[in-house]
Amino acid sequence: MIIKEVVQIGNPLLSQKSKKVKGLTSEKTQKVVRNLIDSMHYHGLVGMAASQIGEKFRIFVTEIRKTPYRNPKDIDKLRVYINPKIVWFSKKEVISYEGCGSVAYAKFFALVKRPKKVVIEALNDKGIKFKLNADRLLSRVIQHEYDHLNGIEFTEKITDIKKSMSLEEYKKRIVSKKR
Ligand SMILES: [Zn+2]
Repeated sequence: MIIKEVVQIGNPLLSQKSKKVKGLTSEKTQKVVRNLIDSMHYHGLVGMAASQIGEKFRIFVTEIRKTPYRNPKDIDKLRVYINPKIVWFSKKEVISYEGCGSVAYAKFFALVKRPKKVVIEALNDKGIKFKLNADRLLSRVIQHEYDHLNGIEFTEKITDIKKSMSLEEYKKRIVSKKR
């Protein structure tokens, strides 16, 4: 198992556009996928993009695990997205708190407005094409990770900077009220 440090905001790697993956089932691609999954688990994140472990490829992973506070409707299995494309965004938008492993190790949370639902097309780790309709937290995580592939950090999209908060305050004021 290889755990990678999360590339932190300010590092130019995070603002660069990632490249399309060519050798889908190549050793290199598989290694990036494995390292991403291991690193996402280790750092306790719900999603992670390749640029966050210093790899400039259009790959990200998501997994919304069960926690005592998380709404059971948000739980989603491990998914791998290679060369993803969001092909549809809902007109309806929602504002919700987001954090990121690249922002002081996920200790900063702020409100971001995003389309509520998306449809994404991508290849999985076996190189098989899939299409996914995503809503709720998964939709938000997908849009967040997709932005990473285009060099965009969520801090560029904060809707109300005054409502930003630390991890501790976020747990106390937001997470505990969601139960
Ligand atoms: Zn992030």
